[in-house]
Amino acid sequence: MTPRRKLSQGHLFVSRSTRKPTSWPRPSTFREALTSRRAARARPRPETSGVEKKRVWLSATAIESMKRCPRCFWLEKHEGIRQPEGIVSRLANRFDAVIKKYFDLYRPNGEVPPMIAGRVEGKLQYPFQEKYWYNLDDRYGYYGKLDECLVTNNGRYTPVDHKTASSDPTTKELIPAYQYQLDSYAFLLEHNGRPTTGIGHLIYFFPGHGEKLHQGFPMEISVKTLTTNPQNVLPQIKKAIAVLEGPLPRPHPECQFCAYVDRVKKFS
Ligand code: SF4
Repeated sequence: MTPRRKLSQGHLFVSRSTRKPTSWPRPSTFREALTSRRAARARPRPETSGVEKKRVWLSATAIESMKRCPRCFWLEKHEGIRQPEGIVSRLANRFDAVIKKYFDLYRPNGEVPPMIAGRVEGKLQYPFQEKYWYNLDDRYGYYGKLDECLVTNNGRYTPVDHKTASSDPTTKELIPAYQYQLDSYAFLLEHNGRPTTGIGHLIYFFPGHGEKLHQGFPMEISVKTLTTNPQNVLPQIKKAIAVLEGPLPRPHPECQFCAYVDRVKKFS
């Protein structure tokens, strides 16, 4: 059955779907990169070919992981060990896909979709480049994938991120990770020759009430504009590299999982 959708100013009506999200290629772990570099060094190569090196790619998500627990971050990057994932809703991924498709309808005409018209400045970047990369050196790099990007008449770029919320986000405190995410996008844009406007938008989608839910589920839209601080990104990347270059950090004192492992391992 084709999902029913109706899009109008300020509201997005969607029906449910279970399609799986597309996956983002997993960046190399520190160990993979190290093995690759060793293999590259050991392999005899013609003078002209250069040495093929694999970088460790960091991202805003990796930095947030490092902030939450340096040990978990270290284990993931060095050993590819991640905390087991519980039951996770993929609804937000589906929302992202639907919203992107809708935005793409307006992109070639230099228009912004009616749902955000008058709330943002500029037009949708066309063609849209979602992935940006920044090489720190031959060992480390930083990357990010934007949800959306606006370009002003004077050629400045504004990163945009779509967020799915359970209720009106303007009544709640901003999640610090969202600020860093926009800072991170601004940093990547700036380092890829795209001067930024100094702001970024979070476009929130959250369910609204309706008397005719059988005709489509109403979604409210709220645009939050933040000042971006790309200068805050490089220090975080350097901190993350220092963690990776150091020994395995201690467990986070407030995390129950490592304490649990510690207690049960004597019985195995
Ligand atoms: S303390 Fe918690 S977050 Fe840190 S490594 Fe252990 S399980 Fe992971």
